[in-house]
Amino acid sequence: MTTGQVHAGKTALVTGSTSGIGLGIAKALAGTGSNVIVNGLGEQEEIDKAVAEVSAAASGEVAYIGADLSKADETRNMMAEAIEKFSAVDILVNNAGIQHVAAVHEFPTEKWDQIIAINLSSSFHTIRAATPGMLEKGWGRIVNVASVHALVASPYKAAYVSAKHGIAGLTKTVALELATHNITVNAICPGYVKTPLVTGQIADTARVRGITEDEVVRDVMLAAQPTKKLVTIEQVADLAVFLCSDAADGITGTMLPVDGGWSAQ
Ligand code: NAD
Repeated sequence: MTTGQVHAGKTALVTGSTSGIGLGIAKALAGTGSNVIVNGLGEQEEIDKAVAEVSAAASGEVAYIGADLSKADETRNMMAEAIEKFSAVDILVNNAGIQHVAAVHEFPTEKWDQIIAINLSSSFHTIRAATPGMLEKGWGRIVNVASVHALVASPYKAAYVSAKHGIAGLTKTVALELATHNITVNAICPGYVKTPLVTGQIADTARVRGITEDEVVRDVMLAAQPTKKLVTIEQVADLAVFLCSDAADGITGTMLPVDGGWSAQ
């Protein structure tokens, strides 16, 4: 169940939806009939293109609210603007995220702070702001785009893994608090996803290492992903849509891997 007007009249806000997974989820939710609020950074051209793509899939309204989610006040302002415009955020998808790779003793302190702010704290601020409206309506869906790194670690990703494990705790805690109110809270835990960013990395790595792009995917990127296939944006987006449907009413507090078997090891 990924299409149809199941969410007509509802409003979804997807953080970090100007590219990659967030854009895919925004388009998929637009296809269910909900209003969609796009958020994310980027060049104006990239933002306009993302909004146009979501609008093309939508039968409801589409709006863009820019906010730097590393800043708590901007995050709160984004939520206030969304609630003022659409009266509530019924579906909240916390997706915005960044990465930085470095050994822990060399990890830049400001990168740690930035990753914790964007990948973890912003979700606290959005959830805190969206919940009163969901409680009032007696319905809500919160989907946190975490990562396989919410379940297992990899070296050199101290801040990312810590923030994603933090999202797991936030997901479970808020799910318990809202369980009797028809508000579900779940996290999707993707392995490597075929986003434009990852596709670019494949070409670069192939060039630098002098190996084929297939070898980069299989032997370098997907060393830990047993299927040896990148997860697609659509696979993650379809799960998000399912979690937002009434069919998923009984699913809350979960961490759902879409990781080609990575976390089974
Ligand atoms: P992406 O770089 O394509 O998109 C990230 C989005 O977040 C963009 O829209 C960007 O503008 C936005 N963003 C970044 N910093 C922001 C800020 N300070 N304020 C507001 N928006 C900001 O990345 P993606 O691969 O689509 O990743 C999306 C989510 O999925 C992230 O949380 C990431 O950790 C997670 N994830 C990605 C993969 C993967 O392989 N791509 C795997 C597992 C989890």
